[in-house]
Amino acid sequence: MNLIFLGPPGSGKGTQAAKLSDKLGLIHLSTGDLLREAVKDRTELGKQAQEFMQKGELVPDALIVGLIQDKINSGKLSKGFILDGFPRTIPQAESLKSMLVESGVTWDKAICFNVDDNAIVTRMAGRRLCPTCQATYNVNVAGAMPKVEGKCDNDGAALTIRDDDKEEVVTHRLSVYHTQTKPIVDFYKQESLLVEIDADTNPDDVFNSLLDEIQVAK
Ligand code: AMP
Repeated sequence: MNLIFLGPPGSGKGTQAAKLSDKLGLIHLSTGDLLREAVKDRTELGKQAQEFMQKGELVPDALIVGLIQDKINSGKLSKGFILDGFPRTIPQAESLKSMLVESGVTWDKAICFNVDDNAIVTRMAGRRLCPTCQATYNVNVAGAMPKVEGKCDNDGAALTIRDDDKEEVVTHRLSVYHTQTKPIVDFYKQESLLVEIDADTNPDDVFNSLLDEIQVAK
């Protein structure tokens, strides 16, 4: 199964992608995680991406499309994938379509996780990240809190707050979502691939709605 996850920053699409990839053995490809890793490793891509990420801007299409093209070419996606955080602009959606067609890969659905802007700002204030395994938690969302305050459930590392989760950057990221990313929801609607899920609830309920939509047994 090949899926594209859409939704505003903080909509929980990363959490849902991690849960679903665990359940179905799909590759979870998060462009945000790949970029954060590149920044941490100080690669050429990381150096170029960092200034855009810190400001809450999108990284230029050419950089991101190249990254996804490499993953598709590597053949590692053949057992099924979830794209989380890509595409984010109409040119990225069009490039993805051509890359998949060229490689003979079909995709099943684009799932959009809807949450309103006020709820997003509250959520993002509570978001915590494990710097070691990239697991995400939320101290403001029941069901998404770490078992021990401030520590990762998987490896006990001290949880951190992402630079781009600070309130002024979040507000800017939301406006970037509405102007640049929201139009691709219509792109997938026109392709009859879009499923919309109300994600303004706890992660387990969202996951159950997701399983219903993709017709996977709970
Ligand atoms: P995320 O973790 O998905 O919220 O992504 C964090 C940041 O990485 C975004 O605010 C962008 O700066 C950058 N980013 C991630 N995915 C993309 C993409 N598909 N296109 C452009 N920039 C991206």
